[in-house]
Amino acid sequence: MKIQTAILTVLLLGGAALANAQEAKHEDTEFYTPVKDVAPAKNSKTPPPDAIILFNGKNLDQWVKTNDKTKPAAWKVEKNMFTVVKTEGNIETKQSFNNYQLHLEFKIPSNITGEGQARGNSGLFLASIGKDDLGYELQILDSYNNKTYTNGMAGSIYKQTTPLSNPSIGPGKWQTYDINWTAPTFNADGSVKTPAMVTVIFNGIVVQNNFILKGPTQYVGQPAYREAHGASPIKLQAHGDKSEPISFRNIWIREL
Ligand code: MG
Repeated sequence: MKIQTAILTVLLLGGAALANAQEAKHEDTEFYTPVKDVAPAKNSKTPPPDAIILFNGKNLDQWVKTNDKTKPAAWKVEKNMFTVVKTEGNIETKQSFNNYQLHLEFKIPSNITGEGQARGNSGLFLASIGKDDLGYELQILDSYNNKTYTNGMAGSIYKQTTPLSNPSIGPGKWQTYDINWTAPTFNADGSVKTPAMVTVIFNGIVVQNNFILKGPTQYVGQPAYREAHGASPIKLQAHGDKSEPISFRNIWIREL
């Protein structure tokens, strides 16, 4: 009897599955949720029309000094670009962001000196979560013929992961970062719900592909999510090394 019942069950389930497959229509899995029309960017140098311009070539009005957010970002603006002023410290955006697409261009000066981490070091903190250097750092460095630990070279998520390749070009040339950032989310008790994730295209080459971050950047010790946070500014690093300061231009962001 038991075997007969089992056979009957299989036949019934099989029949139901077949009926379901027969009834399914292609429309069932086609979405018609609205999609916002956005004119495409004219070229890689021109921001898309719905982008927020974080640097317009003229001023740093969208930025403040990280250590004292009441003060303006006093890095040096000239010739459609701006250059780090190390004594001024880090700067960050006035606006906070969650998930985004970001474009940024940087240039290591042609007269750069130093080696390893002391050669054109800066950084793009994908989310700044406090004073000073707290946050999630995508490293900026001269990594053209400059050896250092590989999870500290340009295109690395600093001290967490090595870039998939090294498309760095020499000093004196503009280089590009195009980034998709997915901010971490946290539970009510402060524990991490979903970790941060990032894809980075460096000079047109994918160097991070959906990398899942272990937490904010940690210089000594293991990174971990120790503090819940929401939308955060984007920060640029004034690194304390003695090498010549680097420059930035054409920074824009699209919230996702
Ligand atoms: Mg750095």
